[in-house]
Amino acid sequence: ENRTNSLEKELQKSVDQVSELRSKLDNVHKESLTDPLTGIANRKAFDNALAAAEASVAEGSDPDSLLLCDFDHFKKFNDNWGHQTGDQVLRLVASCLSENVKGRDTAARYGGEEFGVVLRGTPLSDAKRIAEQIRHAVEARRLVKKSTGDILGTITISIGVAQFSPNEKAETAVRRADSCLYGAKQNGRNLVISENDPRMALLSTNAA
Ligand code: GH3
Ligand code: MG
Ligand code: MG
Repeated sequence: ENRTNSLEKELQKSVDQVSELRSKLDNVHKESLTDPLTGIANRKAFDNALAAAEASVAEGSDPDSLLLCDFDHFKKFNDNWGHQTGDQVLRLVASCLSENVKGRDTAARYGGEEFGVVLRGTPLSDAKRIAEQIRHAVEARRLVKKSTGDILGTITISIGVAQFSPNEKAETAVRRADSCLYGAKQNGRNLVISENDPRMALLSTNAA
């Protein structure tokens, strides 16, 4: 009887250890997909979301779209207010993105002050509307420096929008969204430009 009791105790100990390890592993996995500064998805999670969208569109599921966002004149903002305050603004914009997407969408920080959103089951027209919501949510924020109460004004972002086409690599859609983002910068910033925007045709004519 003693031996059975002691074996049972050993077994319970092992079960507890396994569950502790599993939970640690889950945390490590989550951490590996999270941007430490903003707490939203990181570049790796963004790449996973792009691959998932590419596969889903290739299967003929509902259309997926992609937003690429870049802060306007952010270097100047950092120069004026310091890098740490710039970091706070990055967190704020990350929260604007998260608040405006849902479900299977992925909002990610994929570079310094560059963010991407994969919108699942979302055609270009809806993606444009969501991008406008995000752009507006960011420009509407009145920025105040927490430590001093200084009024910092506002920050704006430019957004390029593309829809994944069947039988194309995700990176091709990324390239198109990136051209649109470039188009938004060229047209004055604080703008959403999608791949069917007439301003894109003008841009390629000028570039040709
Ligand atoms: P543009 O409107 O053309 O995008 O102008 P920009 O000044 O934003 O130019 P660009 O996108 O090339 O510059 C990125 C700047 O963003 C450079 C750097 O000062 C800032 N930045 C990049 N990563 C970070 C970061 O992690 N924290 C902070 N605070 N600033 C960053
Ligand atoms: Mg940039
Ligand atoms: Mg920028």
